[in-house]
Amino acid sequence: MPIYEFRCLKCGNVQEVIVTKSESDSVEMKCNACESSDLERVLSAASYTMGASGSGPQPSVSTKTCGENTCGTLNIPGPTR
Ligand SMILES: [Zn+2]
Repeated sequence: MPIYEFRCLKCGNVQEVIVTKSESDSVEMKCNACESSDLERVLSAASYTMGASGSGPQPSVSTKTCGENTCGTLNIPGPTR
């Protein structure tokens, strides 16, 4: 079952939501801190972010529209070759 992370664009609160397939098209998310609906979906990267402990470059997620869906692209910083 997919777990999505949503980041509030207003207060920066991140919450994890388990979305079932039937819900994924119609689910309406609200920030559980400030109740803003201005949320962006980020890829769940718990194993990666747990090792990063807040310092150094963080992976960033850019979302784009793919047909009717929104796709997230995880940009992991690293050395440039
Ligand atoms: Zn919020």
